[in-house]
Amino acid sequence: NSIFAAVELAPRDPILGLNEAFNADTRETKVNLGVGVYYDDNGKIPLLAAVKAAEQARLQQQPPRGYQPIEGLGAYNTAVQNLLFGAGSELTAAGRVITAEALGGTGALKIGADFLKRLNAESKVYISDPSWENHRALFESAGFTVENYPYYDAGTRGVNFAAMKAALLSYAPGSVIVLHACCHNPTGADLSDAQWAEVVEACRERGLVPFLDMAYQGFADGIEPDAVAVRLFSASGLQFFVSSSFSKSFSLYGERVGALSIVTANKDESTRVLSQLKRVIRTNYSNPPIHGGAVVAAVLSSPELRQQWEDELAGMRDRIRAMRTGLVEAIKAEGVTQDFSFVIAQRGMFSYTGLTAAQVETLKNDFGIYAVSTGRICLAALNSKNIGYVAASIAKVL
Ligand code: PLP
Repeated sequence: NSIFAAVELAPRDPILGLNEAFNADTRETKVNLGVGVYYDDNGKIPLLAAVKAAEQARLQQQPPRGYQPIEGLGAYNTAVQNLLFGAGSELTAAGRVITAEALGGTGALKIGADFLKRLNAESKVYISDPSWENHRALFESAGFTVENYPYYDAGTRGVNFAAMKAALLSYAPGSVIVLHACCHNPTGADLSDAQWAEVVEACRERGLVPFLDMAYQGFADGIEPDAVAVRLFSASGLQFFVSSSFSKSFSLYGERVGALSIVTANKDESTRVLSQLKRVIRTNYSNPPIHGGAVVAAVLSSPELRQQWEDELAGMRDRIRAMRTGLVEAIKAEGVTQDFSFVIAQRGMFSYTGLTAAQVETLKNDFGIYAVSTGRICLAALNSKNIGYVAASIAKVL
């Protein structure tokens, strides 16, 4: 009898399943809006020119491939801190921030979750309703009980902030609150700066443990404005976690470049926390890979390449914005009277369109347009060639 005889087939990842169905579709007009990836106007994942330049320089150098330190490349971690906390941040100057390079944003969440479990095994973890589908699984796999806090309000297509805040104020001290720092996935509905300030105060009042997930810095309004939540928590004097990722902002998905930053009370605490975090990393994957982090560090530490990257990032941001406006206008031009202007107000790569599961199904069957059954679409998968077809098809299923 095989030792695997009792192994059950795990449920398929819904989004990967969508990709498989899309790939098998032979219609030439098919469009995949289910993805979480930025495509350019030609429908390709871009290789940024700043990345290409840094990679070419690295190839010329032919650096040896020794092990990295457990926490990754120092220059990379400093660059991450400057983006998240601001160059010249008082926190980093005071030694209150530790940063470890991680395997994408997912890897950062995982080592953060494992460390938190050692810190306080009994605490509950709260994620937004809805949230990125991997949040729950990640924290559950670290051994936590995960629950939702109220977030999206389908009626206003915004955030039900009163309910969210009331929920935060009802949680036990030490509860971990996972917050999307900007560009909420999947809804595209973000908090205002004033609401963020209230979240900071609620966390302080209840003694909650904030865990900010920053997967899209630079995709809403820009590198600095998108960091407002991190900056407000930084100014609060609280301790908190930040997972961050360059998958999207550097278009480096497959290189797995992210980081976990932890803000402590003081330098001495930082030393102790980092020593424990290193144990977590050591027993997970020992140390991170070299290439992606080295490329990001090279880009961010060269004034010319950094400028080039900022321009390219702005290009991605502006193209997504143009697709938001373009889609709303094109749907209207199809004679649809239902108001879709909320799509313009949403931020980041995604929109909760309000399309029902049945409408999403018809879009797929009749038009070869693939979206998540919740009605989530990726605006970055639209382009000048397919936007008219998508708008016309949406108009037909409404
Ligand atoms: N967090 C959120 C909210 C995301 O949307 C994503 C990616 O889709 C991640 C984390 C993970 O990013 P990475 O691909 O860098 O692991």
